[in-house]
Amino acid sequence: MISVILPAYNEEENIEPAVKEISAVLDGCGEDFELLFISDGSTDSTYEKIRTLSESDDRVKGVEFSRNFGKEAAIFAGLSVSGGDAVIVMDCDLQHPVSALPEMIEKWRAGAEVVEGIKNSRGKESIFHRMSAGIFYGIMSKLIKIDMSSSSDFKLLDRKAVNALLRLPESNTFFRALSFWIGFRTDKVYYDVEERRSGKSKWSTRGLMKYAINNATSFSTLPLKIVTAMGWIFIVFAIVLGIQTLVRFFMGNSADGFTTVILLLLIIGGFMMLSLGIAGHYIARIYEEVKGRPRFIIRDTTGKISGDLKGQWK
Ligand code: UDP
Ligand code: MG
Repeated sequence: MISVILPAYNEEENIEPAVKEISAVLDGCGEDFELLFISDGSTDSTYEKIRTLSESDDRVKGVEFSRNFGKEAAIFAGLSVSGGDAVIVMDCDLQHPVSALPEMIEKWRAGAEVVEGIKNSRGKESIFHRMSAGIFYGIMSKLIKIDMSSSSDFKLLDRKAVNALLRLPESNTFFRALSFWIGFRTDKVYYDVEERRSGKSKWSTRGLMKYAINNATSFSTLPLKIVTAMGWIFIVFAIVLGIQTLVRFFMGNSADGFTTVILLLLIIGGFMMLSLGIAGHYIARIYEEVKGRPRFIIRDTTGKISGDLKGQWK
């Protein structure tokens, strides 16, 4: 059986088309399947739609969060309640084309344990969005030493890979990068991002920036190393400048370097604050992880959920 995980946050118009189109394609692949909708604390009738559909079609199943926990939480909830031998994660606004599914399943049958969906093009976006995504993925790719520029959350994972992901203890996850991190035999499927069916994107610019910073720092300690490196540069600079100042002082022609003093104070002061901020950010992340809260809280489920709903919430 194949489980399809569909995170849905206020997607009432997209549930029915998603069920129709995905079912049609998967029926053609000759594989049993379940469609697992994770309603991420939707405030519209998304969950009612899922429930209605699940009553007439027992392959449709739904999980409803107690509030909005974010797409990452929704994906991990889907992974923990899925029962398939393979799991496909895709957006329920159908921006991830259903036409790519047969190829993904084909590659899985041929032995791939992780099939990554790779974007040929990023679809319609604002220039600002495209540029910031470019910068973010540029940095992320450097940090984790894997090219992430065209990766997405559209993936197929074998049960082995799903179990490996579920064993990761951290509550702050970045699915897209973790699926690289766990390794396994990987293959790729290329696809073109489609237009969103209806409704609008759930991401605000602020939300995206926060997402980018959190993910970059949850995957790398490079910013902390940069602080140390800058510290060393400052020390070298301090020695050179210190010697020069002392020599001049003893030779009796010390410069009246008031400008230099002000500049140095400002530069070093600014840099110290920034370093404290970076270190503080990591401490905040540690604090969050140490609290050990669950990634999500489930309010209700519909349909026969095959996975474990208890032990794996964290
Ligand atoms: N989504 C979610 N929780 C959120 C935001 C989004 O489950 O807090 C889901 C959303 O319903 C959709 C998918 O994640 O199925 C991708 O979201 P969206 O289409 O808004 O992002 P974009 O495609 O613009 O990157
Ligand atoms: Mg979308």
